[in-house]
Amino acid sequence: MARICLALTESTLEENLKILTGYSGQIDMAELRCDFLTEEEMVRVSEFPGLTDLPLILTFRKVCDGGKFNRDEEIRLSLMEKALNGNFSFVDLEEGLHAPALEKKARERGIRIIRSFHDFDKVPENLAERLINSLHSSDEIPKAAVMPKSTADLKRIFEENEKLGDRDKILLGMGTYGFSTRILAGVMGSYLTFCSKEGGVTAAPGHVSPEVLNNIYRFRNINSETVICGIIGHPVMHTRSPLIHNEGYSKLGLNYVYIPFETDDVKEFFSLAEKLSIRGFSVTVPHKNDVIPLLDEMSSGVKAIGACNTVWKKEGKWFGENTDAEGFIIPLRALTELKNKRVSVIGAGGAAKACVFALLEEGCSVTIFNRTYEKARLLAEQMSCSSAPLGPDSLEALKESSDILVQTTSAGMHPMEDRNPLDFYDFTGEETAYDIIYTPEKTLFLLEAEKKGCAILNGYEMLKEQGYKQFKLFTGTEYPRA
Ligand code: NAP
Repeated sequence: MARICLALTESTLEENLKILTGYSGQIDMAELRCDFLTEEEMVRVSEFPGLTDLPLILTFRKVCDGGKFNRDEEIRLSLMEKALNGNFSFVDLEEGLHAPALEKKARERGIRIIRSFHDFDKVPENLAERLINSLHSSDEIPKAAVMPKSTADLKRIFEENEKLGDRDKILLGMGTYGFSTRILAGVMGSYLTFCSKEGGVTAAPGHVSPEVLNNIYRFRNINSETVICGIIGHPVMHTRSPLIHNEGYSKLGLNYVYIPFETDDVKEFFSLAEKLSIRGFSVTVPHKNDVIPLLDEMSSGVKAIGACNTVWKKEGKWFGENTDAEGFIIPLRALTELKNKRVSVIGAGGAAKACVFALLEEGCSVTIFNRTYEKARLLAEQMSCSSAPLGPDSLEALKESSDILVQTTSAGMHPMEDRNPLDFYDFTGEETAYDIIYTPEKTLFLLEAEKKGCAILNGYEMLKEQGYKQFKLFTGTEYPRA
């Protein structure tokens, strides 16, 4: 089982101990980052292991390796030598460090050496070979923390990991592209994953907290049998979909995990998905169209809408579905009668396509308004409905077609909270206003509508409904709503 290792980055031993104790039961070990300590505390480091039963890694990280220690190398080695008098379980020694006395002392005291390598810029070629060559003896644990900057880089980390075989190892991708490697340590056979305290200074880019590892991803349950699902997008790390899917797995006791994959190249992701035997993945902006040519089969909904938000493996083939349309319409149907209603759809992007499709299926009369009029016109032509440019010149058209207003643009979504694409429109209070954005909970568009007495709805119910449908496709089981 991969372990959860908390990086301790406070400036005193006392503060570090307080944090360690606070996380009792949530972590398996800790790394004392001595380079974050004050100079007075650095000389007391050997006392620290006596204060806890948890296995500890001793680390004095230099600035050039991503740490904070900026004094002479001689001083560092002498501080480490002194610290090794404490009962640490591991000591981190960097690739290229020649310190035979330190190594000898560690071995004599039964302290295992982690031979570490850091690259904050890239994923070097032949990483596995480099790690193995860096070891001074076969019982050392090779560790690499590298920086993937693309889906192809991430795939390479998993490939290099395979080359390292079953031996003890620590292989981590930093940053948003590397996020999955921090969660999937149990799948990769990594000895541990590092994390940092909630809301604190993170010891390396991409560290998450023990709370996130345990409560959202159920890190300790992840093993080589775990079925991997996820979501691809760019950007994607803000998504709440992992909360929905992972909670469902937890309630049903399914050995599944759902992870956000920052993705710049959809084709590379399909290749990674094959490598990791990914069962299914959600697709968000900007990939909903790009995945379509890579599917083996697709539903009639994907064909009609021209966008795909769900991909999963069925009998060895990649199958595409669009659950946005159903996810969008279920909460609206629950709020108001739809047949023969006049609906203005604001926006003509991927999400708008699914919304228009669903509204037309319900018998609504739809007009699409978009900033770039040509896109509204083309979508209206494809869906056989009306269109108009988005702006004050269309005020009359808006008034005439708005029993319901559906806001589908990204204007108003974090970090564009100050935007309201309908700031020129005065609600009468009779309309139903639906914004498919869910962060923030109420956009300016919804706040304005609420002020005038309109019935309002945000996008969180849509997110949940489309997620429930994906859950069924990925697991074969209904989502446990209760
Ligand atoms: P998209 O394909 O990139 O389309 C973006 C749309 O927003 C286009 O119509 C674009 O107009 C318009 N737009 C962007 N900035 C604008 C501005 N400042 N003023 C006016 N219009 C602007 O994105 P999408 O996939 O349709 O997603 C759009 C939104 O829906 C996102 O916020 C997304 O999070 C949300 N969404 C929510 C759910 C859910 O489950 N609740 C599901 C899917 C999507 P132009 O054509 O003129 O550029």
